[in-house]
Amino acid sequence: MKCPTCNAWSRVVTTRMPRRVRECGNLHRFTTEEVLVHTHDDRKKEQEDKQREVAMAEGTIQDVANHYNVDTKSVRAWRKKYRTTE
Ligand SMILES: [Zn+2]
Repeated sequence: MKCPTCNAWSRVVTTRMPRRVRECGNLHRFTTEEVLVHTHDDRKKEQEDKQREVAMAEGTIQDVANHYNVDTKSVRAWRKKYRTTE
């Protein structure tokens, strides 16, 4: 997830569901909240947002895969798809 202030990458600082505090590369802090959505398009977007979040997560592919409970192949594919800057 990109910082709403400066558009830099961000990482999760704390998670207290459904809220997450995130901190961007320029140390801006912001809070995100998980929401339930019902339309197909929104679900698809949520899925893409989640994949993007995994792709942008800090750490090795194995660490990120463990953290998000997804396959390392997925992490690798999503990093290729979503990571445009690094
Ligand atoms: Zn920022």
